[in-house]
Amino acid sequence: MGAVLTQNTSWSNVEKAIAKLRAEDALSADNIATVAKFKLAEWLRPVGYFNLKAQRLQNFCRWYLAAGGFKLLCVVETEALRRQLLTVNGIGFETADDILLYAFERPVFVIDAYTRRLFSRLGLIQGNESYKALRMLFEWSLPPDPALYGEYHALIVRHAKSPCASRPACEKCALRARCSAALGSE
Ligand code: SF4
Repeated sequence: MGAVLTQNTSWSNVEKAIAKLRAEDALSADNIATVAKFKLAEWLRPVGYFNLKAQRLQNFCRWYLAAGGFKLLCVVETEALRRQLLTVNGIGFETADDILLYAFERPVFVIDAYTRRLFSRLGLIQGNESYKALRMLFEWSLPPDPALYGEYHALIVRHAKSPCASRPACEKCALRARCSAALGSE
């Protein structure tokens, strides 16, 4: 659910929405799938685009239940599971891979805007490669370890918030000596 709700918003807003769902005793696929959409949208106000996200969350939960829930989905091969997730309206590559990595613990590297920005500044990618090309680059370069991928992705997000934000604070950055963007600006 967090993977759907975090689209275009910060995780702190997702936490507020999840707390609201929990307080309403609605934090289950069954309840999300059957609650009135206007009510769900009201609970999701903290994450923005709440009508759209209510619809997406219901689409996801209905698919999840129809597919047999975690018990059946957790034995589906990773590529087949990705294909199934991508059939759900509102689930794109990044959201599908978030779910594969963090919910199903598959060795899938999540690519987001932070990853593109950081690695293109470092001079390791162009930044305009396809989603799949970048995912494969990381997966070929690292051992297939879901815990490692989860931690690595989280560290990229953290570094891209500070110091490597939209306006980077290179003087404080531990990667400065290896970074094309920092070296080019000197
Ligand atoms: S040196 Fe600057 S541009 Fe390079 S990674 Fe660090 S903060 Fe980002």
